Amino acid sequence: MDEKYKSLLIQELEQELTNISNISTGTIASKIEDIGFSCLMCGKCCRHAFGDNRVLLMPNEIQLIANHTTLEAHEIATPATSDVPDSDLIDTDGKIHTFGWMLARKSNGDCNFIEDAETSNKCKIHDVRPMLCRTYPFYMQDMELHVSECEGLGRKITSEESITIANDVITRYVAEIEDTIALYKKFEDFTTGKDELKITSGNVDEKYHVVYVVHDSKGTHEITR
Ligand code: SF4
Repeated sequence: MDEKYKSLLIQELEQELTNISNISTGTIASKIEDIGFSCLMCGKCCRHAFGDNRVLLMPNEIQLIANHTTLEAHEIATPATSDVPDSDLIDTDGKIHTFGWMLARKSNGDCNFIEDAETSNKCKIHDVRPMLCRTYPFYMQDMELHVSECEGLGRKITSEESITIANDVITRYVAEIEDTIALYKKFEDFTTGKDELKITSGNVDEKYHVVYVVHDSKGTHEITR
C-alpha cells in the first residue's frame, strides 16, 4: 500500500472519529426504539445454515475471551477470510493475507461457541462475547445506524434497553475505527503473487494446512491453519 494513500486513509478515519463525538446517543437510542428489537434466541445469527455468520473481532476481544476461559487464542479466532480467496491477497509465496480475525467456527460452519444441540442456542461465552454479537443486529457505518437481518426486529424494546444498545453501538464504532487506524499504522506491505496455483502447491502441506499472514492492530502474524 502506497504510504501517501495509507496516510490519507488514516486522516479520513481520524476525521470520522472527530465527527463521531457529535453523534447523539439519544438520537440513536430513539431510532432503535422506533425500529424495535427483542432477541428471540433463534440462533440464526450464529448458525451457518442461515447465512453469513462470520463474527469479526479485534485482538483485545480475543484476549478478553482468553482471560475468561481456558481457551488458547487459536481456539477462539481464525484469520478473517471470505469463502472464496481473493487473488489480490495472495503473495508471491502463495501465502494468504487477511485483515484481522473472526470467531472460530465448528466444522459445520456454526459459531464455535454456540451449544451443539440445535434445540439450544446458548452462547458459551455470552458474558465476554465480542462487540459485534453484543450489538447485533445494529451497527454504525458512515455516521448512520444500520440494521442487519434478524428475527427479533420490530419487537417492543424499552427506552432503557435502547439507550444501552445505542451506547454499545457507538462504543463499537469508535473501537473499530481506532483499531483500523492502528492496523494501518502497523501494516507491512506485501507483493501480490501472479500464480494463484501456489496456494495449491507450495503453500499447502500434506495435511492441507495453508499459511496465512494476518495483519491486525498489533502487527503481522504468520500462522498455519
Ligand atoms: S439476534 Fe436476532 S438472529 Fe440472533 S439469535 Fe437473536 S433474534 Fe435470532
